[in-house]
Amino acid sequence: MVDLKNQYLRIKNEVDAAIAQTLNTTTFINGPQVTEFAHNLGLFLRVKHVIPCANGTDALQIAMMALGLEPGDEVIVPTFTYVATAEVIALLGFVPVMVESDPETFNVRAEDIINAITAKTKAIVPVHLFGQCVDMEPLLKLAEDHNLYVIEDTAQALGAEYTFSDSTIKRAGTMGTIGCTSFFPSKNLGCYGDGGALYTDNDDLAEKVRMIANHGQAKKYHHKMVGINSRLDTLQAGILNVKLKYLDEYAANRNAAADYYDKAFSGVSGLQTPRRQNNSTHVFHQYTLIVNNGKRDELKAYLETRGIPSMVYYPLPLYAQEAFKNDKYKAENFPTAEYLCSSVLSLPIHTEMTEEQLNQIAAAVLAFFNSQR
Ligand SMILES: *Cc1c(COP(=O)(O)O)cnc(C)c1O
Repeated sequence: MVDLKNQYLRIKNEVDAAIAQTLNTTTFINGPQVTEFAHNLGLFLRVKHVIPCANGTDALQIAMMALGLEPGDEVIVPTFTYVATAEVIALLGFVPVMVESDPETFNVRAEDIINAITAKTKAIVPVHLFGQCVDMEPLLKLAEDHNLYVIEDTAQALGAEYTFSDSTIKRAGTMGTIGCTSFFPSKNLGCYGDGGALYTDNDDLAEKVRMIANHGQAKKYHHKMVGINSRLDTLQAGILNVKLKYLDEYAANRNAAADYYDKAFSGVSGLQTPRRQNNSTHVFHQYTLIVNNGKRDELKAYLETRGIPSMVYYPLPLYAQEAFKNDKYKAENFPTAEYLCSSVLSLPIHTEMTEEQLNQIAAAVLAFFNSQR
């Protein structure tokens, strides 16, 4: 699904030099590259504070901790997302309240969220799924009207840009109260291990986030609150510093692959290509098709026999996960999530795709549909 080896080889000299620098100084924790990377990412995102941490799940947890929610408070999340989004909410004793997504963009919409708001709702977690921004303008308005925090999960959409109706353009993760991201190797900006970050323009919130990520410590050995230990290590920061320079180029490569697929699959009946919004760029963390008429699993098996990988993100909505089973959630209340989980199929998309690979994958998909007629 990704080609991290060839991606590394293309920037090997720079990455090796960054790693060697840390090895030579042995500043494995809190080395200068960590601050440098946070600064560079802040410039890229046009955001005041970037606080690195150990992974994307931690970033979400730290954000939740920093906002001062109380046990029993409700946090609205999409039901069609990766588990990490809801996991930290439950872990902290808050209540994840799941909502449907748009069947064409896969993202949550203000119109679905509004029905889930109660007196206990404190926050919304929009997930910019697969690389395209949630339609944030109506969502932010809704949050403002109901006095809710907005915690953006931008683990899949680092670099995507959203255009507001007044033409203001903002990066994913910089529109709400706080943004959270992951540098897991296969993410759009991936390191060579685990990593994550939070971003915000709010000085007080940034200070609290820094404190929580560092054992609740305000001054060395003086702990103001119960925190956690969540750091981005220096080796990873050095690698990310190199890769950040290529992030726009990486997004362009992913878009070129998506364009190729879109063109190849246009007009194939029973197959829906991912819808692109006018108000957001897409960084194609995933290229996700909707395969209609119950043919998804058959297509996946067919591709497998031709040596072509494909993945189902995600096979189960959150409410159907054993960990989140609850009598409140009934499948019949989530027809879109049920439909998506049985119909989506993601094709390989990454920064190193060749014309030949794209050709081969598209031809196999088309051959499947031709064999159906
Ligand atoms: C990857 C991912 C995370 C978690 O990131 P980790 O670094 O693996 O902890 C959270 N949310 C979404 C949507 C993700 O895709």
